[in-house]
Amino acid sequence: MEPNNPSLRSFIDVPEHHPFPIQNLPYGVFYRKGSGEFPRVGVAIGDYVLDLSVLEDHGLFEGTPVHGSNVFHSSSLNEFMAMGRDAWRSARQRISELLRDQPGELRDNPELFGKAFVKSEDVELILPVEVGDYTDFYASRHHAFNVGTMFRGPENALMPNWLHLPVGYHGRASSVIVSGVDIHRPVGQTLPAGESSPVFGPSKRLDYEFEMGFFVGPGNKIGEPIPINKTTEHIFGLVIVNDWSARDIQAWEYRPLGPFLAKNFATSISPWVVTLDALEPFATDMDAQDPLPLEYLQGERRTFDIVLETYLQTEKMDKPDRIMVSNFKNLYWSMEQMLAHHSVTGCNMQTGDLLASGTISGPEKESRACLLEMTWKGEEPVKLSSGESRKFLEDGDTVIMTAYCVGNGYRIGFGEVRVKIMPAHT
Ligand code: MN
Repeated sequence: MEPNNPSLRSFIDVPEHHPFPIQNLPYGVFYRKGSGEFPRVGVAIGDYVLDLSVLEDHGLFEGTPVHGSNVFHSSSLNEFMAMGRDAWRSARQRISELLRDQPGELRDNPELFGKAFVKSEDVELILPVEVGDYTDFYASRHHAFNVGTMFRGPENALMPNWLHLPVGYHGRASSVIVSGVDIHRPVGQTLPAGESSPVFGPSKRLDYEFEMGFFVGPGNKIGEPIPINKTTEHIFGLVIVNDWSARDIQAWEYRPLGPFLAKNFATSISPWVVTLDALEPFATDMDAQDPLPLEYLQGERRTFDIVLETYLQTEKMDKPDRIMVSNFKNLYWSMEQMLAHHSVTGCNMQTGDLLASGTISGPEKESRACLLEMTWKGEEPVKLSSGESRKFLEDGDTVIMTAYCVGNGYRIGFGEVRVKIMPAHT
């Protein structure tokens, strides 16, 4: 039976709405808390992490390209990601078989069982990938139109290039951090309204952006673009991305070269990488583009039905409010188009590169995926159940992002990105 079959059940108990059933098998990097052990690769299954380095040591990947490679004894997924689709598929098949509720080498071996499974609460998850380069796109038409309307009016909302290419910028890889690492409000230069000289201090307009990002598996040689019909061979899997943005710093610095310090202080990602193979049952066609883009951007128009939610909890609240619901389907440009466009010059993509989608806003107000857009530059604050309201984020606020696909009787979840805003360093 193939690993996406909805009827598969694991001997590890997984409740119906849990993000990590046997059909998911997302990869992460972890170590047992307090153990001092070297980080290793695992997959999430229910409330457990399965230590793949233990399975590797027991020869359970024999007959797959992973056997003897030591890729699961690594402190990042990069070596595994570089192996390519055949290795990913055979590893996924083997892990799925070992976790099924049927007689097998893992289920029926108590000693191995005890060594290979760790409760999720007993592990520390680290950044799963050594991020090479980070690129951020701007691929939601709703987001680009709303932001353009705010600053230029609806007639000139989309720049003339927007419908012809996936607009993007090269971001900062060193500050990509894993969920749970709290961030400090950035300081910088801003131009107060009505003034002609800038001032220095903590950002007053700190914002999140709900995005999804994908990791490049095998790269391409410099000078050899990835054709659009080959792009899926280069995409390993997806994570949730929170592209933290200081709007007041951005407004002053961005002309003419685009975002710089407004976005380089932190970009948070979810710790579990959900593979393209696990998302396959949730693939869906995208609408045809009008105008038709140039030939190198024409290919299968495919996306995934992934529900995206943002929650906000202030220090006065006992539990968070859901303030946004959107869907990955709301993107105008596909991941395949992003990768084909990025490499068309011959730019060499490398294993571990992170390509993020841009803010994934939809047509409804509740689907506006950043506060700039949701509050319309702060003119319409978000009201919270505590009686408080927010134009932008305040110190002590916690932003939680989650994403999941809804299957028949199960979910393919991404877990979450949870980050608290700490005061600026002064
Ligand atoms: Mn962004």
